[in-house]
Amino acid sequence: MVLGTYKEVVAARSTDKQIQKLAQDGGIVSGLFCYALDEKLIDGAVVAGPSDVMWKPEPMVAMSSDEILAAAGTKYTFSPNVWMLKKAVRQYGLEKLGTVAIPCQSMGIRKMQSYPFGVRHLADKIALMLGIFCMENFPYESLRTFISEKAGVDFDLVEKMDIGKGKFWIQTADQMLTIPLKETHGYEQNGCKVCLDYVCELADVSTGSVGTPDGWSTVFVRTDAGETIFKQAVEAGVIETKSMDDVKPGLGLLEKLATDKKTKAMKVIDERKAMGLPVPYKGSGEKEDPLANV
Ligand SMILES: Cc1cc2nc3c(=O)[nH]c(=O)nc-3n(C[C@H](O)[C@H](O)[C@H](O)COP(=O)(O)OP(=O)(O)OC[C@H]3O[C@@H](n4cnc5c(N)ncnc54)[C@H](O)[C@@H]3O)c2cc1C
Ligand code: SF4
Repeated sequence: MVLGTYKEVVAARSTDKQIQKLAQDGGIVSGLFCYALDEKLIDGAVVAGPSDVMWKPEPMVAMSSDEILAAAGTKYTFSPNVWMLKKAVRQYGLEKLGTVAIPCQSMGIRKMQSYPFGVRHLADKIALMLGIFCMENFPYESLRTFISEKAGVDFDLVEKMDIGKGKFWIQTADQMLTIPLKETHGYEQNGCKVCLDYVCELADVSTGSVGTPDGWSTVFVRTDAGETIFKQAVEAGVIETKSMDDVKPGLGLLEKLATDKKTKAMKVIDERKAMGLPVPYKGSGEKEDPLANV
């Protein structure tokens, strides 16, 4: 259960050439949101949109495929998407809301739905939560600093960033630079050290790059709502799939990374508990099954 509860896991990618070009990996998030908008399964989605500052995302309510695509791609810093949900309902008047969430944001959203104090009008409007995997995240200034200092590249020239194969990848118009992840570790957000969720276990559908080849995504279909939309999108030819058994490196690598993340975080949680410090989860190495779901 180290990867959470799910109905199905597959390798998948969007069949739309424009989405393939703009997306971070297989374009599952953008592809599913565009499809859900077209089919009126949602009437808008909160995504991490662009801002005036390069690579600093700003949550936005996307109500068309063009707006979904303007927000495609991973920004390795915080985008307070949960904060935007209220605005999406109150100011944009959305009734069926989609949202993309990293694991900590998915926990906040599920908690809000389970204990809707003051947010009852909002909790029941979240129709589709697409989750993305997350090993760690960086404060904006940290990201800017290590990219310009360690890779020696002007931040404004960066066209894409990625984490994979033990490295932080930085793509500019004419070169690809890398920084070993052991050199970026000191820059990550402190709160990430007690985070127990790698594969967004609480989302309707969760996706990430690890486990599948470049240009493809690993996709966990987790809830009934997630299954309905994913199946429809596959049947409509918007998403193509392959069995995880037919791709490399496959599920084994994800299991290893999720286990490593949970084990490391539980050690920090137990250390903090021993010092009498508050920790945000009940999760701990002392649990009966420490690797069970978040
Ligand atoms: C901080 C961070 C760390 C990650 N770490 C891993 C990892 O360790 N392993 C792994 O396999 N995958 C990781 N991912 C996920 C991966 O980078 C892709 O986001 C995911 O595979 C979806 O790709 P896609 O082609 O389906 O999405 P796209 O179609 O490109 O859409 C991406 C969506 O994510 C939204 N988004 C972008 N940045 C953020 C953000 N900072 N916060 C919230 N939403 C955002 C965009 O608005 C867009 O809607 C991480 C993502 C983030 C944001
Ligand atoms: S590692 Fe966890 S706490 Fe940190 S940004 Fe990712 S999901 Fe949130």
